Amino acid sequence: MCEDTYNWVDWESSGRAIQGMRPAERVWVTKFASGFCGTASMMSRWKSGGWESDRCPLCGTSRETVDHLLWCSASSCKQRRHDATIDFVQWMRDNHTEASIQYCITQILQRGPSTTFQAHTNECINPLVRLAGLQQDDIGMMNFFRGRVSSTWMKIQDAHMLRRHVPTRRRGKSWMASFIQQIYRWCRCMWDHRNDVIHRREAAATEMVLLSDTDQKIIKEFTTGISGIHARDQWVISDTCVETILQKKFEDKLNWLRHVKAVCKRSEHMEISQMDRMRLFMEKWKRRRK
Ligand SMILES: [Zn+2]
Repeated sequence: MCEDTYNWVDWESSGRAIQGMRPAERVWVTKFASGFCGTASMMSRWKSGGWESDRCPLCGTSRETVDHLLWCSASSCKQRRHDATIDFVQWMRDNHTEASIQYCITQILQRGPSTTFQAHTNECINPLVRLAGLQQDDIGMMNFFRGRVSSTWMKIQDAHMLRRHVPTRRRGKSWMASFIQQIYRWCRCMWDHRNDVIHRREAAATEMVLLSDTDQKIIKEFTTGISGIHARDQWVISDTCVETILQKKFEDKLNWLRHVKAVCKRSEHMEISQMDRMRLFMEKWKRRRK
């Protein structure tokens, strides 16, 4: 960013936006805006405990950078982006946003880096809107999503609110800070979505490992068979077959294994008490003979 471009950015509003957020949100925004959140391209740089690949875990086609995170082509990302955009547009409607700003921002949220701000402001009669588009393109698309937004947007909005007699104290300024918060929320939705997908996948993988471990235990019970199980409990194994148990749901498999364990234990107890009875009988018999 050159000095002119730097001066176009409404730093005051982005500062106020961050101050108005909850501490946990603030930490995330700071990491995100500086490009230091745990994307694959960051994680793969770590030597120990890092990731092997810098590919996007959702689409697998690009390096996962902060920019990619927002515009990933995976279908679930497209859907999430669409939902987040609807919420953002609704916020603009609810907060008296000037029509040409609404139009331009909606286009940007839908198309991202494949378009420019000027493409959606050039036709506007209001010269300030055309200027805002030009400045924002110079500041940069990704900088927009990091909350670095041209202060001209605020001037347009302020004049609009004054004309419409919108009863707020700080008009354009407070709108601008909330607008930047909406940008961060939109980005955060994409980050949360990406993490949800990864966590769901990890949970499924853990279940797979547990499942195969359980299957091995079931197979072992069938290999051991009915030996060591008292006659009246042997049906637990003899009345079914290994395939039937393996096809059961995870929780049912665990129940079956618990049942087998319980009957084995019961047989063991019965054997011990039988041995005890025999021992007592022998002792009595010996005493009688003396
Ligand atoms: Zn991707």
